[in-house]
Amino acid sequence: MDFSISADDQARLQTLRRLGRDEMRPAGWRADRAGAPLPVDDPFFVRMLAEGFGRTRWRAAGAAPDGTDAPAPNKAGSAVAQVLLAEEGAYWDRGIGVALPGPGLGEPPILSMGTPEQKQRFLSPFVNPRRPIWGAFAMTEPSGGSDVANIKTRARRDGDHWVLDGAKSFSGNSGRAEWTVVFATIDPALGRAGHRAFVVERGTPGFGDFRIEKKMGLKAYESTSFFLSGCRVPAANLLGGEAYYEQRSGGFKGAMNTFNAGRPAIAGMAVGIGRAALDEAAAFMQARGLASDLRLRDRLERSRRKLKAALLMALRAAWLADRRQPNMLEASASKALAPPAAFEATSFAMEVLGLAGGRGDHLIEKLFRDVKALDIVEGTGQIQRVVMARHLVGLPN
Ligand SMILES: Cc1cc2nc3c(=O)[nH]c(=O)nc-3n(C[C@H](O)[C@H](O)[C@H](O)COP(=O)(O)OP(=O)(O)OC[C@H]3O[C@@H](n4cnc5c(N)ncnc54)[C@H](O)[C@@H]3O)c2cc1C
Repeated sequence: MDFSISADDQARLQTLRRLGRDEMRPAGWRADRAGAPLPVDDPFFVRMLAEGFGRTRWRAAGAAPDGTDAPAPNKAGSAVAQVLLAEEGAYWDRGIGVALPGPGLGEPPILSMGTPEQKQRFLSPFVNPRRPIWGAFAMTEPSGGSDVANIKTRARRDGDHWVLDGAKSFSGNSGRAEWTVVFATIDPALGRAGHRAFVVERGTPGFGDFRIEKKMGLKAYESTSFFLSGCRVPAANLLGGEAYYEQRSGGFKGAMNTFNAGRPAIAGMAVGIGRAALDEAAAFMQARGLASDLRLRDRLERSRRKLKAALLMALRAAWLADRRQPNMLEASASKALAPPAAFEATSFAMEVLGLAGGRGDHLIEKLFRDVKALDIVEGTGQIQRVVMARHLVGLPN
């Protein structure tokens, strides 16, 4: 296995390191102290747009390789690079990474399921956006997020529209998004085969009652719950069109593809937060004469080792993805391993800092709150273990 990345991706990593230090960590702090996401018109977003963020990786077929069609500067050229960029970004501030404009988690289902016309319609505004714009993804419902196959939001065909009814929760950026990819079912009795994915555009009647949820960490971006009440979505917004679902078992696979691509990156983010915590711990140990304590040094090293092992698993999953080889087990293993390793790192750092960490004005306290979500998003640790254990005894997932 070779985890080396291209010169372009190396340059992206360097840029991210600079922006992480100068822009992202300060912006994340600002939002955390305010206890609220940065507003849509915050100048930070405009500066990040100028740095090449907020773009889609999609390109129209046959697009000329001129300036406007150059690959988005912040997008990794490989899954391996994506994990390394995710790790570096989260080292500086994971919340602000999600707050950044761009199509976000809505992009993978559009790329994997959308027709060429839908990709053009929904992703072309993100090729060279003139102002910060967002996309979003909404699967989770108030009744629970793990049992993805049993979503309850209903979709009913009515002439040349679909009518959506239901509720979604904790959807990142959907309150400010141009559109949100919403998963619904045409008949819960059909299970996964009943799933359909719709692009619901901002301002569509019946799509509203947005409520920004309170979170213990990652306060820099909004996690929004909303309702769909008799929400009429044009038939043209059914992702992939009818034909897509006739050939496959509903939209479920589209969502799962999204997750399998995302899990190694989430693992990388957990490692990034853990690395930041250990750097704080090491600096504190040096500054306070604690570095001579063999027991503390040993725990620091052990914690770092676990983070490195988790990152290697995430890179292995990404390496397989780059070769279009099945990576479900490795992706789940990395997602199961990294957050606990990062919990250990942040807890250790809190312990080393003692009062200085617990007072509530040190970065380590923020990292301690931020890291928990990494165990929850895109499949909890328990769910990863369920998936892997079923696989071991030959049960379908
Ligand atoms: C910061 C943040 C951002 C998010 N962003 C998005 C987003 O953009 N879009 C979106 O759609 N969702 C998003 N989510 C929702 C997230 O995907 C869900 O929180 C997650 O899927 C878990 O669902 P739940 O919280 O409803 O827990 P539940 O599914 O209710 O689970 C509760 C507990 O039971 C455990 N459990 C459940 N089933 C089993 C089982 N079969 N075996 C063993 N244990 C089990 C779980 O692991 C968990 O510990 C976000 C969540 C957070 C915290």
